[in-house]
Amino acid sequence: MAVVEQGRIAALLPETAGSLLEIVEKGAPLAALAQEATPLRRPARLLAPIPRPRRNIFCVGKNYHEHAQEFAKSGFDSSAASGAIPEAPIVFSKVPECVIGPDEAVVFDPAVSDATDYEGELAVIVGKSGRGITKTRAMDHVWGYTIVNDVTARDVQGRLKQWLVGKSFDTFCPMGPWVVTADELDLGNTTLKTWVNGELRQDANTRDLIFDVPTIIETISAGVTLRAGDIIATGTPVGVGIGFNPPKYLKDGDVVEIEVGGIGRLRNPVRAARGAGRGDKA
Ligand code: MG
Repeated sequence: MAVVEQGRIAALLPETAGSLLEIVEKGAPLAALAQEATPLRRPARLLAPIPRPRRNIFCVGKNYHEHAQEFAKSGFDSSAASGAIPEAPIVFSKVPECVIGPDEAVVFDPAVSDATDYEGELAVIVGKSGRGITKTRAMDHVWGYTIVNDVTARDVQGRLKQWLVGKSFDTFCPMGPWVVTADELDLGNTTLKTWVNGELRQDANTRDLIFDVPTIIETISAGVTLRAGDIIATGTPVGVGIGFNPPKYLKDGDVVEIEVGGIGRLRNPVRAARGAGRGDKA
């Protein structure tokens, strides 16, 4: 695992430290591990911080006011009948196999979906397992944060009513490039921006979340034991492709960049490939 200073890999932790997921699960002391770090001696390719989560990624839908409005108006929102602003967090999930790392391509098959959209999001990494976690104790269970792009096939999301399939296509969860520990972000004032081909599309602040991180943790853990290493994507702000008239869906050759203040910038190219992966064995 790499240690980062000012956006660059400064050093590598010893292999005995294990993966980030193992470090989070064990509750390994980062300061002690960092003492054993050695300088990076050859070029390295970054993977997603948790390239294969142990189970589905929890996600929250319609969790910023203006985005809830834009999605409710889009015609693809099967939950719109209950109102634009949800009364409780809308929780869905993405399968773990859709995670990709920084600079890897989001690949969509236009024969399966011609409405692929981006969603820049702050993601929580759970550090301490628990069930029945109250809001007041919720932050004790947060290990840290990263960035995810909750890529979505809008037409499939709308047609199937349940969101899992349209949000779990292979490559539909870019993650990274870095993680930061819980103490490094102020959730009451963290910026989130998304660009497509350099055009600023999303420009928001986590202070505008409808349901804050403690509320999300309390809601999920009321009946589901959260586990160390679980990832919770907290929702996307206004400015996704579906919100424009006409919609600005992702196209072959596009580049999506998502920046969360204090974490870094996640960049991924987009590729359209008809028949991509069809009939392939996993
Ligand atoms: Mg989302």
